[in-house]
This record gives sequence, C-alpha cells and structure tokens, in this order.
Amino acid sequence: MSRLPRYTFWSLQFRKLHSSHIATLSFPSSFSTSTPRSPATPPIHVGLTEYAGRGVFASRRISAGELIHTAQPIVSHPSLSSLHTVCYFCLRKLPSSAPSLEAPQTVSFCSTQCEQQSKASQNRLANKSTSRASIVCKDGMGLKYPLLVKRLACQVISGVVSSDVLDILQPEISSSDRISKMKKEFALLKSTFEDSDFGSEQMPFLTEEWYAGVLARIRINAFRIELAIGSYEDLLSLAAASVEAEAAVGNAVYVLPSLYNHDCDPNVNIVWIENVDAKVKALRDIEEGEELRICYIDASMDYKARETILYEGFGFHCNCLRCESKD
Ligand SMILES: [Zn+2]
Ligand SMILES: [Zn+2]
Repeated sequence: MSRLPRYTFWSLQFRKLHSSHIATLSFPSSFSTSTPRSPATPPIHVGLTEYAGRGVFASRRISAGELIHTAQPIVSHPSLSSLHTVCYFCLRKLPSSAPSLEAPQTVSFCSTQCEQQSKASQNRLANKSTSRASIVCKDGMGLKYPLLVKRLACQVISGVVSSDVLDILQPEISSSDRISKMKKEFALLKSTFEDSDFGSEQMPFLTEEWYAGVLARIRINAFRIELAIGSYEDLLSLAAASVEAEAAVGNAVYVLPSLYNHDCDPNVNIVWIENVDAKVKALRDIEEGEELRICYIDASMDYKARETILYEGFGFHCNCLRCESKD
C-alpha cells in the first residue's frame, strides 16, 4: 500500500444513505477555532453526491491556499516507534533533549493540558498499554489498529465518547480471514481489560460485534499522521498537493475528513503541521457549490497504477476527469 494516508471512500452501495444520518454530524465539535486563520464557521457543508453517497461541498468561494478547517480526531494513537518521541495525546514532537525521568513504559505528554485531557478520559489503561501492546504487537498478529480500538474503548468507558461514535463512517467489508483474526484480537483486548481495574459492568458495549464494527471502520478511515516539515505559514499558503513529511508518528480517525471523496486531481488536501489536528487547505480556487475532494493515494502515479491501488485498497474505480482521459 502507499505511504500516503489511507482515506475513506463512499461507494455506490452507500448512495442511499439516510439523510438524517448526515444531520447527526456535529460540526462544532470537529473544528478548532483556536488557530487565528481558521474561520469560525467553515465554508463547507456535507451533502449527497450523484455518484458516491456523501461528499463535502463549498458553501462559498474558497481561494487557493485557504485553510478551510481544522479537524480534531475522535481517537488517535502514536505508532509504537514514536511512543516515546511524541505526545501521547496530540502526537506533537517532544523536545528530544528532555530526559525521560519516567519509567520506560510510561507515556509522555507535551503539556499539562494534554496530560489533563488524556486523564480526563480516565485512561487508566494508557499507562499499562505500552508494554502489553509491545508484546502483543511482537507476536506477529499485526495489531496496529487495535491500539486505536483499545483507546476508543477507554474513551467510551470514561464517557468521553459514545460507543456508536464511529457508526457514521463507512465500514470495510471484512473477509472471513479477517473475521477469524479479529476474533483473536478481540479476545486479547477483552483479557487486557479484564486484567485492568475495569469491571464488566463498565463495558457492556465491549462485544465482539462492537469490536468488529469499530475495526472495520478504522481500517478504511484511519489516517496515517505524517507531520509536515516546514513553517506553518509556508505550508498553508503553498498550493501544492504534496508536502515533505517525516515518517508516520501515529494513526487517527476523524469524522469530517473521512467524508471527502477522492479525485486524482484534488482541489484540497490535508496536512498535519505540529500535531494530530488535520488541516484541510485549498489547492486552488474553488467555486461555491463545487465538491471538495482529496487524493487518497500518490497523485503522481500513472493511470494504471492508480486504478489498481484504488480498487485494491479502497474498492472503487475512479471516474475523475484525469482517469477518464487515462492520464
Ligand atoms: Zn500534546
Ligand atoms: Zn481518478
């Protein structure tokens, strides 16, 4: 698969999505207004497209380089290799000179605010997860996503989010192979929770069905977070689809960024500048009513390669203008 973030897509089978479902999107919770350049009300709305279910549209004219909105994740987790170099909560890079006075299995935070927010979700598992997660991941079961599932479960238990928070996202259609692997993962996760202080009455939602549903959504909606190299201003004003980025520091799941459809010649893209907050910016001038699309893959690939990756990785055939002309 590509190095690029994996984005969701909305296939034809979801075309008839009930419109009331869309109304459940809570925009204010998805946006940060703390960045001065971020508009108070993002100039976008979610609507139905004629070809692929939901999509994101411009509510007014948007200029090239404009920061359209910032989205905070529902759930995120550092990659295991970044566990001690980034903030456990926001994935911001920690100062490398800071000596770690903590035990090696203890996670670190960039600020007391992040630490408090993380504790607000009463993430008692967080401090235990590291060693356990490492062991679990070393056994070759590819438990990359269960870290996100586990963190989500902690957030549900603490009441930060509801257990159906990801239901709005499209799930992957799981193969039977995947399902049997998933059952093993679920058993591991369940036993991790049982070993912790949590009683089963605190986690009635934690069923195999819940796990499968969450994992199927995370699998195609998780973004790989690669922090961009460069100044904030440069990155926002640069009308370029690709930005130089460091290796992935973690994974995160968002609501709104997952509603953007794909185009091999996108008019917006998503960048991560200092932390896990996803910044969506315009790559060119966009007219009011125009659909905003991101590119799920490396746009520099040729038609044949893009067609293969989009079908195998995301399950659809692209009908964008570039693909129609076999460019
Ligand atoms: Zn932080
Ligand atoms: Zn295309």
